[in-house]
Formats: sequence, structure tokens, C-alpha cells
Amino acid sequence: MTAVSRRRLLGTGALTAAAGAAMSALPASSARAQTSRAAPQDAPNASADVVIVGGGLSGLTAARDLIAAGRSVIVLEARNRAGGRVYGMPLGDGTTSEGGAEFIGSTQTRIAALAKDMGVDTFPTYNTGKNVYYRNGKRSLYATDGILGAVPPDWGVIDLEVALLNIGNMAKSITPGEPWKAAKAEEWDSQTFYTWSRANSLSSGARFLLDEFISSTLSVRSKDVSLLYVLHYIASAGGVDPLINTKGGGQETRFVGGSQEVPLRLAAKLGDAIRYNAPVRGIETTGSGVTVTADGVTVTAKRAIVAMSPAIAGKIAFSPGLPASRAQLMQRYPMGSIAKFVGVYETPFWRADGLTGQAVADSGAIDATFDNSPPDASRGILMGFINQTNIRKLDAASADDIRAAGLDSFTKLYGDKAATPVLTAFQRWDNEVWSGGGPVGIAPPGVLTEYGPALRTPCGPVHWAGTETSDIWTGYMDGAVRSGERVAKEVHAAL
Ligand SMILES: Cc1cc2nc3c(=O)[nH]c(=O)nc-3n(C[C@H](O)[C@H](O)[C@H](O)COP(=O)(O)OP(=O)(O)OC[C@H]3O[C@@H](n4cnc5c(N)ncnc54)[C@H](O)[C@@H]3O)c2cc1C
Repeated sequence: MTAVSRRRLLGTGALTAAAGAAMSALPASSARAQTSRAAPQDAPNASADVVIVGGGLSGLTAARDLIAAGRSVIVLEARNRAGGRVYGMPLGDGTTSEGGAEFIGSTQTRIAALAKDMGVDTFPTYNTGKNVYYRNGKRSLYATDGILGAVPPDWGVIDLEVALLNIGNMAKSITPGEPWKAAKAEEWDSQTFYTWSRANSLSSGARFLLDEFISSTLSVRSKDVSLLYVLHYIASAGGVDPLINTKGGGQETRFVGGSQEVPLRLAAKLGDAIRYNAPVRGIETTGSGVTVTADGVTVTAKRAIVAMSPAIAGKIAFSPGLPASRAQLMQRYPMGSIAKFVGVYETPFWRADGLTGQAVADSGAIDATFDNSPPDASRGILMGFINQTNIRKLDAASADDIRAAGLDSFTKLYGDKAATPVLTAFQRWDNEVWSGGGPVGIAPPGVLTEYGPALRTPCGPVHWAGTETSDIWTGYMDGAVRSGERVAKEVHAAL
């Protein structure tokens, strides 16, 4: 046995143990060896039962489950790393901070199970003290343990609470995964969230916070996105509160060592089944399956899984052309514009000031912040989101300009101590070729009701995964893992 095949076998054994409940949902595999037949990293041709395009959480999870079910798998990943939108942003001193996905919540059980299997521990997001609210030039502090939770007590708060209650109730009539089937789907998909929010709130405070709800969850303007899409996003997360809250919500927990540890460890177990630096350019459906052409390698397989957002899948040349519903969907499902800016300090000084490190602001580059410090608080890391219009305003900015803009926001929110970090770092996603933005693809009006079913419907031997296809926690790491588990079952059954 060569070193490579020994490694592969060891990796597969670990996978079988790791995949746990997800794998036991698959039919028991035959006596066939559960190995991938990945070719050496530089081989120009390879074959497998299944070729997976994309080594983000969805693609990696699908690979794990299919290998456990006895299928051979090759994963083609465009970047030189696994994880996609989950990425440890280098801080310049040999350490990293989450530049992409970061938080999970208690109902995000599939990403939690995967992390546990990978031996990645979790710890609570720092949430002690008051939050900062900056609006109309005025800074105020507010506690988040009252009935409003994370909602800042703006003058428009009653107006806002009524609006949030209404959208929460509307979302209850949506079946996760099938928003287009809701009784009012046509009505809700014929307007943007902006249109609805202006018709259903009066105060400028409520309107600002409704826009901020969209900015901080989807990184788009409220006028970019269909009301139906937002209602489905809420339904998929189990309500408004799980989306916006830290305590009890989707921002409650972080990963020790950074979220990227989860995909990196899973990728390590998949070993040679993953080929990096292999952007897929074309997928041809043939009589016997698919031929997938990537830089440096051509893979033949019985089935293909495209595991990424619809917008990025749209860059691949499909031959013959895909059905119009899918091809047009990929033209109509844009990504948000999002970036993270972090300042690293000797201590998390805001904690001593009685602050959580969480803030919402109506001006400046950063509109929301979190405490990104490590669990032992051996240093303080403040993270700010630069969303939608704010990041596009920095299109032509130099690194110095971006640093100045980020620190200006931090200083406004946390005082002069924020002006002198040890170092700063910045990661934007909307000009990343293999992501095109983030955190998630969104649907403008008219898309879900007309093209929505094409999100998941296979096109012959080509199947679709990615967080955008998930019924539960779509847009999140949990949704990505769930989509990988769902597509693995789908493909295993079809083979
Ligand atoms: C700034 C930011 C903050 C976020 N915060 C959170 C958070 O706190 N909590 C949370 O749960 N989620 C968060 N998310 C969302 C989360 O990152 C995603 O939901 C999840 O990672 C998506 O995984 P995926 O596998 O569906 O897609 P991706 O991660 O996008 O994976 C797709 C993969 O396909 C590869 N690829 C693309 N095109 C090709 C091609 N042609 N050939 C080969 N490979 C290709 C890409 O390189 C990538 O590796 C955040 C995202 C961003 C950007």
C-alpha cells in the first residue's frame, strides 16, 4: 500500500465514525471499499461515482456522507483552501480571526454536530454588559436582557415591535423550503421588503431599524430583496428573534480556534479526494453521466453535485444548456455585499467599560459590531460589519482609507481607546471571484414564485447543494451542512 492510499484509508475510517447520524440515514453501504478514487493531485484525468464542485461546508458534507455510503467521490475546489465562505482572515501576526462565517445558535444542530465530530469546541459569544446604539449623531447604551432583546430602544420602538410581530406572524404561514406555495406568495413576492416596511411603519426609527435588520442579516438594501424571500428567511430560522438575538439566537456561540477549523478538519479527513486550485469551467452531460472540466483536470462521473450559491454556479458553462428555469434562476439570485473589519487590542477594553462589544450604527462605514476576542480574552478583537452600500462606497479606497474608516466607526462607538489598535485586518467578499459576495444569495421580487423550485430540482445528473438550497437556516453554515446531507441522500438514491 502506498503512503497515499494508506492515508486515504485512514481518512475514510475516521470519516465513517465522524459522520454519525447523518450517515446512518443513508442506506447501509455494500461491501465495496469506501474509498474515493481520486487521482494524484496533478493527474489530468480522473473518474468517480460522484464529482462535487465546491469544497465549502455543503460540498465537504456531501462528500463525507457519500464516501460513508460507499461511493467514490472527487471534490473540485477552485481555491487553494477548503471552507468557501468560512475563512480565517490572517491578522498579519500568524493568527487569524473569522473573516467570513462565525456564529452559531442552539437550533443550528447540524453544524454543531459536525463541529463536535471534528473535535472543534464552542464557547459563548461575549454578551455581558450593554450594547451601543448610534443614531442621528447620538450614542446611547442599552441592556439586551429586557423584552426587546437585541432591538435598540429607538423612539420608533413600538412601531418597530408591531412591524416585527407582523412579519413574524406572516412568516409562520410559510413552509420552510417552499415559500412559493404560501397562500399569499404572489402578493409578497410582488414587493420589496422596503415597500412593505414603508407601508407598515411610520417612524424614522422603526424604518431605520427595519432596514438595518435586512442589512445585518443579508447585507443588501431592503429595496433589493423580495418580501417573500425575507419571510422565508425568517421561517427557515424559526422566527425573527433567532435571527437577530445573540442570547438564544443565531449569534450565541463561537468556535474555539475559529469557525474555519470545522471545514479545514473535515477537508483534512477527505484527504486526496479533494483537488484544490481546480476551478470548474464546464459540466457536460453525457450518455453515461457527466464530464467536468476544471483547470488541470477532467473528471468523468455518474453524477455531479454543484455545491455553491446559484450566482457562482452561473459562471460554469453547462452543456447542453440547462433548463431555462435553472439557467434564469442563476441570473436572478445575487449575492449581498459584505466585509469584515477587525481591530486587535491588547485587551478587550470595552468589557471593562461594561459593554458587550455589540453595536448598531446609522452612520459611518460599520453598521454592526461584535466582540471577536478569543475565549481566554488574551487580547481584544473588535469586529465590524461593513455592509451593502457602505462597502461599495469603499470600492476605490486604499488600505489606509479603509483602516481609517473602520477605526473612525470603532472610535465613535467605543471611545478613543479604539483608535489605537495593535493591528487591523479587513476581508471583503463581493470581489472574491469564487464567492461573489455574501453572506448569502438573495431573491429580488418575482424570483421565488417563478424560479424557486429550480433551486433544488436536479437537472439530469447534475444536483444542487449550497446553503441557498436549505429549508432550515438557509444562508447559514447550518443550512450549508443540511444541504450537503440532503444532496448526498438524493444522489445516493439516484445512483
Ligand atoms: C462575512 C460573512 C459572514 C457570515 N457569517 C455567518 C455566521 O456568523 N454564521 C453562519 O452560520 N453563517 C455565516 N455566513 C454564511 C456562511 O458562510 C455560508 O452560509 C456557508 O459558508 C455557505 O457554505 P456553502 O458550502 O453553501 O458555500 P461556499 O462556502 O460558498 O462554498 C462554495 C465553494 O465552491 C467553490 N467554488 C466556487 N466556484 C467554483 C468552481 N467553478 N469550481 C470549483 N469550486 C468552486 C468556492 O471556492 C467555495 O469553496 C457568513 C458569510 C459571510 C461571507
